[in-house]
Amino acid sequence: MSETFKGSFTQQEPISEVAIEAAVKVLRHGRLHRYNVVADDAGEVAQLEQEFAAFLGVKYCVAVASGGYALACALRAHGVKPGDPVLTNAFTLAPVPGAIASLGAVPVFVETNAALTLDLDHLQAQILASGAKILMLSHMRGHQPDMDRVLTICAAHQVQVIEDCAHTMGGSWGGKPAGTHGLSSCFSTQTYKHLNSGEGGFFVTDDADIAARAVLLSGSYMLFDRHIAAPGPQDFAPITGDIPNISGRMDNLRAAILRPQLSDLPAQVARWAALHDAVTQGLKDTPGLTLINADPGAVRVGSSFQFLLSDWTPDNVQAVIARCGTRGVELKWFGADIAHGYTSRYEHWAYAKPPHLPLSDKVLAGLVDMRLPLTFSPRDAQQIARIIRAEVSAVFQQASG
Ligand SMILES: *Cc1c(COP(=O)(O)O)cnc(C)c1O
Repeated sequence: MSETFKGSFTQQEPISEVAIEAAVKVLRHGRLHRYNVVADDAGEVAQLEQEFAAFLGVKYCVAVASGGYALACALRAHGVKPGDPVLTNAFTLAPVPGAIASLGAVPVFVETNAALTLDLDHLQAQILASGAKILMLSHMRGHQPDMDRVLTICAAHQVQVIEDCAHTMGGSWGGKPAGTHGLSSCFSTQTYKHLNSGEGGFFVTDDADIAARAVLLSGSYMLFDRHIAAPGPQDFAPITGDIPNISGRMDNLRAAILRPQLSDLPAQVARWAALHDAVTQGLKDTPGLTLINADPGAVRVGSSFQFLLSDWTPDNVQAVIARCGTRGVELKWFGADIAHGYTSRYEHWAYAKPPHLPLSDKVLAGLVDMRLPLTFSPRDAQQIARIIRAEVSAVFQQASG
């Protein structure tokens, strides 16, 4: 009898008792709105913003309703207008081009390479071809490019960088936290990311003007003096009439459950690394399977695992996914013809009139993805790797036999 994995790939850990107590406290006093505070209490949201800014080592942080909201808010705060081209990765999740489209701006896709990051030659070419002044750089699945090179290319063409750190919260590049390389960055606290408040997100920057714009955009009702990790009144005064209120605030209930989670994040990142290492060890030297080469400067958060079945036929890739599925290992494929689960790819975003991107097509055709929730143990990760290894080997042998 072959072994079957019994765990759930979508089950996160429960909310801790400390966080539950903090939530109950907010429920008991009833002041859920972030600006509903009393004299001796700054409120959970303002304190969370201060703590998240300190965690990253940045000056300003605005907590918002979702990661996708943070992305659109970032674009507006950077002054993007309808019709403006905005560069972004061909391999990312649907809310990224969605945020660009929500402003009436135009996504300009940059090729994704076999390291699952931006192809930097194509970035340069697309900057010149489009005249874009913004790169929304999505660290999709936690994979980061050589950030020194990205920033050099962008600086040479006056392109501002907004980092999408939905999958890199807790990661770093070149010893600096992910999200501190660009002019601003966005995070998600949605259930499947690295902190869990159901929905939620952060926008962070060191730029006082951009930060003031983001606070006003988020729906501050001119109560920006109740923020801690925000610029002073002098940075708001010149712009208040120019910035529309597009409500997307975080509330004190979510912030209350996020603050204890943020303290635990470094320990969680270490646990994810153990899971990710166990799968890597188990899949090493599997015939036909290519592991992803990380950029040497990157410290990734191992909350998901990717590998490539390069140059495999679609039928054979699907056979692996089906065979692993019957043994309890839930894999997703980014090469499918139609969008399925979370695995839509750039060609599926017809509204963005995607071009043909041969390098990305080749990579995505062989790209297999799997979540690694912290409800898994390292032994689970070893078992998962054994199952994938066996099924990939079986299909590969059949195909080449
Ligand atoms: C989840 C995600 C987002 C958006 O986060 P939400 O909080 O779900 O809006 C943005 N970018 C990437 C790469 C994501 O995976």
